[in-house]
Formats: sequence, C-alpha cells, structure tokens
Amino acid sequence: MPQDIYDKIMMLAKRRGFIYPSFEIYGGVAGFYDYGPLGSQLKLNIENLWRKFYLLKDNCIEIITPTITLHEVLKASGHVDEFTDFTVDCKKCKQSYKVEDVIDDDIGIEAALKENKVKCPNCGTNLKDAYPVNLMFSTKIGIGSARDAFLRPETAQGIFTDFHLLYRYAREKLPFGVVQIGEGYRNEVSPRQGIIRLREFSMAEAEIFFDPKDKTHPNFGSIKNKELYLFDNEKEIKLSIEKAVKTKVINNQALAYYMYLTQDFLMTAGIDPKKFRFRKHAPDELAHYATECWDAEIFSERFGWIECVGIADRSAYDLRSHIDSSGTDMYALRKYDNPKTVEVKKIVPNMGKLGPLFKGEVGMIKTLLENMEVKDTKKISVNLDGKTIKIPNECYKITETKEKVAGEKFVPHVIEPSYGIDRILYCLIEHNYHEGKKKEEEYRMLKFNPIIAPIKIGVLPLISDERLIKIANEIDRNLRDAGITTYYDESGSIGRRYARMDEVGTPFCITIDHDTLKNNTVTIRNRDTTKQIRIKIDEITSYLASKVN
Ligand code: AMP
Repeated sequence: MPQDIYDKIMMLAKRRGFIYPSFEIYGGVAGFYDYGPLGSQLKLNIENLWRKFYLLKDNCIEIITPTITLHEVLKASGHVDEFTDFTVDCKKCKQSYKVEDVIDDDIGIEAALKENKVKCPNCGTNLKDAYPVNLMFSTKIGIGSARDAFLRPETAQGIFTDFHLLYRYAREKLPFGVVQIGEGYRNEVSPRQGIIRLREFSMAEAEIFFDPKDKTHPNFGSIKNKELYLFDNEKEIKLSIEKAVKTKVINNQALAYYMYLTQDFLMTAGIDPKKFRFRKHAPDELAHYATECWDAEIFSERFGWIECVGIADRSAYDLRSHIDSSGTDMYALRKYDNPKTVEVKKIVPNMGKLGPLFKGEVGMIKTLLENMEVKDTKKISVNLDGKTIKIPNECYKITETKEKVAGEKFVPHVIEPSYGIDRILYCLIEHNYHEGKKKEEEYRMLKFNPIIAPIKIGVLPLISDERLIKIANEIDRNLRDAGITTYYDESGSIGRRYARMDEVGTPFCITIDHDTLKNNTVTIRNRDTTKQIRIKIDEITSYLASKVN
C-alpha cells in the first residue's frame, strides 16, 4: 500500500522523537500515544501559546483540578446518563463499532440493522441491535467503603464545581473566564484513527461566565470587522464577525468573539487557513448540555475534516445542575441601582444538638447549613461524602430577617471553547510538512512557526576544531540561559546537520566557522529561505529572541 502523508508523518514522528505508540513492547493498544522529547516540547509550546491567547489576551484565570472525579459531579453534569455512543457488536468476530462509523448518517439506524443492511467491516457478518455505551472509565476512590468515581471526560466540571469560589476571586464581576489544561479520558468504542481518536488526550478548555441578559464581549469592537471562515453545510463562506452576529448566523457576540479567538490562535500556531473552517452543529447533533455549538474543523489528507475545537453555548446547564444537586449557592448577582430590602430565611444550627449527633462531621454540616438556600423549612438535608443526611428539626432554627440585598440572583451562562491539543498538534505537523529532492537527496522539512518549534536554534560548529567547539558551547549556553531551546550538533557534514534540523522544524541554525575566530561573527541560517546572514556573537541572543518568541 502506498504511504500517505499520515504514514510518512508518523514514521518521521517516531524516528525523530515526536510521537511513539504507547506500550509498544507489549503490542501497543489503540487510543494511546506517548510524546517523545520533541513531541513533549512541541505540545508544551502549543499549550503556552494557547495560554498567551486566553490568559494574556483575554484575561482568563487558570486552575488545576483532579482528573479523578466523583460520581456525584458527573451524575449532576449529565455524563453518567448521557455521555454515550451508540454501539453495535459483531457476534462472530467480537469487534465493536460506533454506529456512526458503520452506518451512513442518512439512513435510519434501526431499520438498517433490522433489514440486514449493515455488515461487519471486519468479517462481513450482519450487524444487529445497537445499544448505548457510556464512554467514561470508571474507578473507585478508597478501599472498603469506597466511593464511585470516573476519570474525567472533560476538564470543564472541575471549573463548574469551583464556580462560587472563582466568582468571588473575580470580584463578583461578569463576564470572566476560567481555563484548565489537562488530560481527559474517554473509553472510545473502537478507535481506528491513530492519534486523532485517543482514549487519553489533552484538552484546553475555557469556561466563560456571562450574564444571560448581556452576552456581549468587552473586546468585540476590536475584532468585529475581521472575517470568520464559516461552512453552512453546503459551501464555505467568509463573513465579517459583525454581519454574522447581526444576521443571527452566530447567536451572540460572545460566541462570535471566542470563535475569532480560536481562529486567530490556530492561524498563529500555523494551521493553513485554506484547511480551516467553522461548522455549525445541527440540532440533533448537539451535546446534551449545548444550545448552540460550532466546531473548528481542520482538514487532514487522511482523515478529512476533523473537529479540533468545539465552541459551545452551554447556557446555565451545568451550574443549574450543580446548584440543584449539591445545594450550594452558585448564583451571581445582577446589582440593583439601589439596594432593596427583602425577607431572607436563614438556618441557625443548634450546635448543642448537632454536636452529639454528628461528632466529627459537625463542622462541615454547620457550614453547609449556614450556606444553604432554604426552600422547604420542614425538610432540611445536606449532602456529605456522597450521603444525604437528614437534619432533625430540633437541630436548627429558621430565622426570617430583613436584609438589604444588592441585586438579583441568577445562574450565569457559559460559553465554552474546548480544544483537543493532540489533534491540533497532529494537524500542525501535517500542514507544515514539506518533502522533495535537493541535489538528488530526499529531504523532509517541518516549517513550524518559530513560536511552536520544539528546538528554536541549531548550534553547529563548522568543523571539529577545539577553538570553534569552545565558542559554539558558549553560544549554546547563553541561548539556553536566555530561555531559548537549542540543539548542539557537531557530527556529520554541515549539509546533513542542516537537513536534520529542517526535519524537526528548527527555524534557525548558527554556524561557527573560521571567520568567527577572526572577527567574532557567526552565520545564522533561516530554514525557510536557506539564506544566511553574518552577525556579531554578542548580538545573537537579542536578534534571535525577537524572532523565536
Ligand atoms: P468535545 O467535548 O467532544 O467537544 O471534545 C472537545 C475536543 O476534544 C474536540 O474538539 C477534540 O479536539 C477533542 N477530542 C474529543 N474526543 C477526542 C478523542 N477521542 N481523541 C482526541 N481528541 C479528542
């Protein structure tokens, strides 16, 4: 079978330390890949560029939460009941398939299976009876009275369950955004798309909290005349952001703003604009939490259009669910011009009664009671460690007080850009991959944008002369001290060494030659033009820092 670009890239990736199949010495397993030394650095650079867009440009805050997540959290979020793929098994060869991988979207699934229209791609047997399979990996926390948990299928829930604390941190002002970069886990039914469909993958997610009455964005003015690459399921169109919002192609400013931020990030990283588009989800395609969703799709020669970022309007879905399930006050406040006086019901715990009943847990129960929204004054219960605990009536008093309130409570809405870093990383390699022949020799080159290139500078003494090597080592040290990644290489012909650096996407090479000894200058070779300039040694760092950062 002739190699396609995917095969070529995966070979290069393995040979040069970008991507390895995981557990290969035991035969490997679909859906898992390791990042080698250059892959890890490339991934880190992509994530740090992402941080520049979300933390610096957009002023979001970043948090880190556990990857193991309590059952209660994912029950409330709907993942326990709804995060499923429709699956069909082959009775004969025991292969399982995601239904959408074996059935054309346009034909009725039930009917097609009943009428024996669907054959197992592996052995040709008729496939029957599709059923939903939950995609989460389940686990237990603790031994004995262990608690049910899952490996998180998205990083978002860690942000939602901290919302009340983060809202306070953000000085109770909306909109504000919180991001998290980390692993997500999905037990994909039968991942057959290499690095594109993983069972453990890196997500970069932003949850932007809005007042539903005001889904504008403070920076909208500065981007409204830019264009978005949209696909209306028939043709690709370029539309100004302002027009897209005015004509309701995109429902609100905030969503449009984050679509543009996504497009800008991907183009800056090095995605080919001709292989990029936003596609709107059809109503029957929307995830259980979304009211509107756009996928940023990137074209790959092997896989066609791949969803690399999902930008969803999750409305109040998640916070509402966590308020209802945990009883925690996760509302935001829409301030009145003048404070109003209202009647407020509060629980006053009776510690004399609570103490003997709940002993070590009394502190937690007191806090939960004091922060509780009182709906039914006769039935009070709290959720603690997965148990619902009824609080006897004699353990508390309900007081009604008049309080001045500063505003009206509401559940914020959420816009969520959710990025799959691994897919973006693969597409960046594919879009920047070039091959050809130079002087009868085959060459391969990765034309990475310097900002994501894993090695920024190759440091190459022209020949193995102690005097050149000493200077080269000093230059190498100085660049590293300035935070610029280098690769020092003194072995082989200079042409081979340039080729090795081109193949891993290193944008610049410094060559230390005999003239260096005479006049303290070196050459700097540009990967893309192969042009060389001469520059003084003490100007190297400042010259290159401006080019690679
Ligand atoms: P979703 O929450 O399904 O919209 O996923 C968010 C992003 O995660 C997607 O846009 C993909 O880039 C990425 N993603 C989802 N599933 C996988 C997977 N199995 N392997 C790699 N990346 C994935």
